[in-house]
Amino acid sequence: MTTPPRTRTAPCPQCRQPASLETSNRFRPFCGERCKLLDLGEWFAGRYSIPTAEDDATSEETPRDPEDPQRLQ
Ligand SMILES: [Zn+2]
Repeated sequence: MTTPPRTRTAPCPQCRQPASLETSNRFRPFCGERCKLLDLGEWFAGRYSIPTAEDDATSEETPRDPEDPQRLQ
């Protein structure tokens, strides 16, 4: 009698450590803030500086919350 783990994980794209895919992980699919910033830095570099405090101010290209139960078409 085995129950599946409640926490879904996937290898972090940056460091390949198991990263939580739960909504509690603000940095998914990365394992943490460091890896997310590293990944963002790859395309932010040369265009923008990495945002640190104004995270909510720039949500133009942020995809909608995948957990949104009512996805508007
Ligand atoms: Zn990582």
